[in-house]
Amino acid sequence: MVLQPVVDGSKFLVDFGAIAESARARKASRISLQLPEGLRAFAKEVSEKVASVTGASIMIDSEPCFGACDIPTHLFALSDLVVQFGHTEMPSIGAIPKMHFANLFLDIDPLPVVEKAIPILDGKIGVVTTAQHIHRLEDVVSFLKARGLEVSTSRGDSRLGNYAQLLGCDYTSALWMEDSVDTFLYVGDGDFHPVGLTMLSDRKLVAANPSDMTVRSLDELRDRITKQRLSAIERAMHARTFGVILNSKPGQRRRAVADTLVSEISGTGRKATLIHTNLVSPDLISYYSFDAFVSTACPRIAIDDFHRYQKPLLTPVEAEIAIGLKPFSAFTFDQILAEQ
Ligand code: SF4
Repeated sequence: MVLQPVVDGSKFLVDFGAIAESARARKASRISLQLPEGLRAFAKEVSEKVASVTGASIMIDSEPCFGACDIPTHLFALSDLVVQFGHTEMPSIGAIPKMHFANLFLDIDPLPVVEKAIPILDGKIGVVTTAQHIHRLEDVVSFLKARGLEVSTSRGDSRLGNYAQLLGCDYTSALWMEDSVDTFLYVGDGDFHPVGLTMLSDRKLVAANPSDMTVRSLDELRDRITKQRLSAIERAMHARTFGVILNSKPGQRRRAVADTLVSEISGTGRKATLIHTNLVSPDLISYYSFDAFVSTACPRIAIDDFHRYQKPLLTPVEAEIAIGLKPFSAFTFDQILAEQ
């Protein structure tokens, strides 16, 4: 694997050789690009680079792309190959012959911030990270072991393409080793990935960010989000009609969960209707007159965009609490797991 900056001067590295190889293997003359939001400003430069390594004509897809769950089936008739930047393959979806996942690796040394975190790590350490730092996982583990710490990593379920990798909807790589861990060390940027882990596990979590050299706990954020979720559940307890949202994105489509919710809600004397969509948004929610909504799509929509929704938008487990099928003590962070 030869990594190069995705555009000149960028700290994000990509394997353009692997993209060229994918294009060659498929004899691709038409390639579509899916870019994460942060790379869109450089779409021209990225498309020129992909054109130069593949010789193909390039089309930039302007639809938002949220993750490897977001398979752009609308592009398959228009392209010989679709290159999705910034995500790793989700094996549970199965082989998708026209897709190439071009992960973006962050070229920032994680070891200085890991060293800074060591004084507050207790007991046995479980290391978790994101796709952007996965190429340095072994270095982090060796570094901690060399300092006398007992360190584990785990694979998760088949939504996760790599050992120790977290998704914002899948924490199995952490939870599957929880019993043998006292502290989780999250190496990566931002709150998006680790906050779910603080809600799912009572183990200590230390978040070490190689980009800004911060080492912190997310307890305060966890408490704030928990409060928001409980308030959304309470508001939905008065609802008589529910829209149950089913997403068309292959990696977010939980038909069985949605069907179960419709029958559970109906079984309590309330009304429930399925809504099929490719994009869950405040516009969609305000358009319909249901009293409350349950999203079986990406759990982060209900959680991270809490303030954007006027009506209660719940995750499946939250809906079961709101309609009285589960107690408040059953509240937990929603995950999309491979078997769903
Ligand atoms: S379902 Fe949400 S959190 Fe999971 S991969 Fe897709 S966009 Fe990311």
